[in-house]
Amino acid sequence: MYQDSLLHIDGRWRPGSANETIAVINPATEEEVGTVAKATESDLEEAVGAARRGFLIWRKIPALERAKIMLRASALIREREDKIARLISTEQGKPLYEAINEVRAAAETNDWFAEEATRTYGRVIPSRGGGIHQFTVREPVGPVAAFTPWNFPIIQIACKMSAALAAGCSVIVKAPEETPASPSELLRAFIEAGVPTGVLNLVFGNPAQVSQYLISHPLIQKVSFTGSTAVGKQLASLAGLHMKRATMELGGHAPAIVFADADLDAAVNGLSSAKFKNAGQVCISPTRFLIQESIFETFVERFSEKAAAIRVGNGLTSGTMMGPLANERRLNAIDAIVSDAVDFGGEIRTGGKRIGNRGYFYEPTVIVNPSNEARGMNEEPFGPVAFLSPFRTFDDAIEEANRLPYGLAAYAYTRSSTTAAAVGMAVESGMVSINHLGLSLPETPFGGVKDSGIGSEGGTEGIDAYLSTKFISQI
Ligand code: NAD
Repeated sequence: MYQDSLLHIDGRWRPGSANETIAVINPATEEEVGTVAKATESDLEEAVGAARRGFLIWRKIPALERAKIMLRASALIREREDKIARLISTEQGKPLYEAINEVRAAAETNDWFAEEATRTYGRVIPSRGGGIHQFTVREPVGPVAAFTPWNFPIIQIACKMSAALAAGCSVIVKAPEETPASPSELLRAFIEAGVPTGVLNLVFGNPAQVSQYLISHPLIQKVSFTGSTAVGKQLASLAGLHMKRATMELGGHAPAIVFADADLDAAVNGLSSAKFKNAGQVCISPTRFLIQESIFETFVERFSEKAAAIRVGNGLTSGTMMGPLANERRLNAIDAIVSDAVDFGGEIRTGGKRIGNRGYFYEPTVIVNPSNEARGMNEEPFGPVAFLSPFRTFDDAIEEANRLPYGLAAYAYTRSSTTAAAVGMAVESGMVSINHLGLSLPETPFGGVKDSGIGSEGGTEGIDAYLSTKFISQI
């Protein structure tokens, strides 16, 4: 059932003009399952022209009508849940139940932004003189270039595309070449729901060439990227050079602080499920586990048991709890991160090696007492590896939590409301979840500080990113 993926430009599904394709690999089998069309510069130019024309149409459609079209798209996504989820599992590797949750989250995100389309209020500002009317209106910024990664092939697109559509913008999505079929199905739902020609365009290609072309193009008004900090810095500087608004959702290295008074069941269950979700390839995955010393050994034992009990396998096989890594680069990266941690004195409590020699499977891995000099304690691991270290005082934990240039997500477990309030304020990160897993909802902001990015997706902040404020003074 896996299909080859095409470009969608100016209302047409078509191959790239040079007829070039890129192979798509199933990470569970290492087999080529299909291909994806590669855009040339002339394809991109056509996409930009279409997005400009589409923008002029879409921005004039009343918000309520835009919302109705978007809600029809949600209904189609829900109808096709099983098909889209199977595509996600096949091309990305995650277990089917995680893929189904991703499809549902994409529809829910789209619903939320559709409704928000009708609430992009301006304001009236009292004037200094009689007869002067001063007010602001929120206007869509214009055609958007959205670059999304392979770890969540459709929800990452929905967070950008649905907010942009709700605001009245047109979009060129540069979706991930490694996972192209599920994004194609996502866009198909919007197109069949009645989004006018040119408003949504989908391209794939050489990521560096596509981003260079689109970001520097004078008709593109806004850039949104999710991916690594290294690439994000390059794209943000290109956006700055061309005076483009930019939202950057970049890497993280989330601390998870467990205080001695924590509900240990909640901490072990919550953090192990967050850690190994999507084989750890999640930007808000907990990575540095800081455990207060009096409960360190107990936590390590219970967390390691949980990790060792995870059934790893093909995402499409029933009973699979964790799939393969998404590509060979991640497998090699995780192998290198684990052996480096051991070289620096870290002790593997469970896991630590590849499973089999076909498919990019890796054992859920727990490493205790890692050195802060180990690579994995400094670079985003982006894989199924948890680093567990003991801490003595609140200040010690916060110092370690804030040590890195990242600041995306943080987690804490404590029964003390005083400690909970203090940790919420002291951690340098864009999001903090205390005593439960509460991040990443359509209605709440999602974004980082420091090297983890600029701006937020989700919540009212998510749509603000696609609006500009115009001030009008009128007698
Ligand atoms: P990468 O940095 O090469 O690519 C990350 C993403 O950015 C991919 O989707 C890729 O297609 C895209 N990309 C790369 N160069 C680009 C460019 N010049 N212009 C536009 N897009 C570009 O790394 P990778 O091997 O695919 O993934 C490894 C790292 O990426 C991970 O360690 C993680 O830090 C990060 N990552 C983060 C997220 C996230 O949700 N924040 C998602 C995927 C990957």
